[in-house]
Amino acid sequence: MMPSPGKIKMSKITIIGAGAAGLMAALSSTEAGNDVTVFEHNEKPGKKIYITGKGRCNLLNNCSRQVFIDNVVSNNRFLYSASAILDPAGTIALFERLGLKTVTERGNRVYPESGKASDVTKILVKRLNELGVNIEINKEVASLITEGDTVKGVRLSSGEDAYSDAVILATGGLSYSTTGSTGDGLRMAEETGHKIIECIPSLTGINIAEDFCKKLQGLSLKNVMLRVLRGQKEVYREQGEMLFTHYGISGPLVLTVSSVFGREIGSRDIRLSLDMKPALSEDILEDRLIRDIEKNRNKSLSTILKGLMPYSMAEIFDEISGIDRSIPVNVLKKEDRKALVKSLKNITLTPESLRGFEEAVITKGGVSVKDIDPGTMESKKVRGLYFAGEIMDVDALTGGFNLQIAWSTGYLAGISAGSK
Ligand SMILES: Cc1cc2nc3c(=O)[nH]c(=O)nc-3n(C[C@H](O)[C@H](O)[C@H](O)COP(=O)(O)OP(=O)(O)OC[C@H]3O[C@@H](n4cnc5c(N)ncnc54)[C@H](O)[C@@H]3O)c2cc1C
Repeated sequence: MMPSPGKIKMSKITIIGAGAAGLMAALSSTEAGNDVTVFEHNEKPGKKIYITGKGRCNLLNNCSRQVFIDNVVSNNRFLYSASAILDPAGTIALFERLGLKTVTERGNRVYPESGKASDVTKILVKRLNELGVNIEINKEVASLITEGDTVKGVRLSSGEDAYSDAVILATGGLSYSTTGSTGDGLRMAEETGHKIIECIPSLTGINIAEDFCKKLQGLSLKNVMLRVLRGQKEVYREQGEMLFTHYGISGPLVLTVSSVFGREIGSRDIRLSLDMKPALSEDILEDRLIRDIEKNRNKSLSTILKGLMPYSMAEIFDEISGIDRSIPVNVLKKEDRKALVKSLKNITLTPESLRGFEEAVITKGGVSVKDIDPGTMESKKVRGLYFAGEIMDVDALTGGFNLQIAWSTGYLAGISAGSK
């Protein structure tokens, strides 16, 4: 975008944080004709981008704007304007304009064609350098400088002050703090009167009370169904993949549950139930069991179990179901058979807590969206202060939607800051 002809002055913009949101804000703001400085306390920009998508960076989802909105779990309506200004198709076009070739894979996940997350950062930084953006690495912002209800600049940890017409806070959340997201920005937002919605880890594994999970660690299940029960009521079900770990469970199904029910995990009301045979009704499963028993009359139950589930699970299934697997199948009573079917379709997993921020893909919570104008990303409390990315109380499911939040809100904050 070229500077608009009607623009009278070039505004001085400070951006705190050179993550996905900060880099995108720097790009749109500079292309809109502003003079931009980015402060980043790490030794390089975009440190978190390097580890996204297992080093391949699933930079967005090639979907409609509405599907993007549908995949945002917290405060999705807040993102209507930002995603109208820069929607998924627009984001792909923008990256291609910068020279990043992309490929769309299963589930509409978009990756750099090179397969390298580092190329996403490289291409952004290259363009920012061409535009003359001042990216100051190893520079930590300690606080915001305000005068009345207006932001005037930032104070660095070194004691230096940097004045500007507007400031964009893009310091991320609290997850994977080694990438630089240490929560500084949340503190600065709180200090300047913004409400912070309690932060919890999201898109993360879940600690499970049942001891048998530990014994199954490493076991990955495909095509199973995970249900969430609140009290007696089923509130969620999804079929897919999950993984047992030394602490409980993880994998795609579990990450989604952590995102949708994160704030309830640990409350006694919430229970998880695993269905090992979602494609079979209890009756059909029992018929299959009867046929298996007929064929294996002189064997132990253990033999049959091994045909019904992975070996490691069959080995400990008495612990899971309470049914003695060493008994010969010919002494298996009808009620044992029914109990076995029920166990296969309903393994109780009691969620104790979420894993910590260090393992969480994102942070749920942050600066309340009620304190931010969704049409500009400007604070409603401090004039000239803008927010972008994960620092805000918005988060989405996996699939590229979280980076899309960073791109869209960063872009909008960038073109809004200094435009008044
Ligand atoms: C392992 C992992 C894999 C992921 N994979 C994907 C994926 O494939 N697709 C997807 O959509 N999302 C993915 N995400 C989520 C995605 O990376 C984040 O949602 C996104 O990076 C948030 O961008 P941000 O710019 O808001 O914050 P960040 O990327 O956290 O950037 C914030 C920046 O601010 C800097 N900063 C903080 N405080 C200060 C300060 N006081 N002074 C100066 N600088 C400061 C930090 O150093 C950092 O560089 C993944 C996350 C993780 C942890």
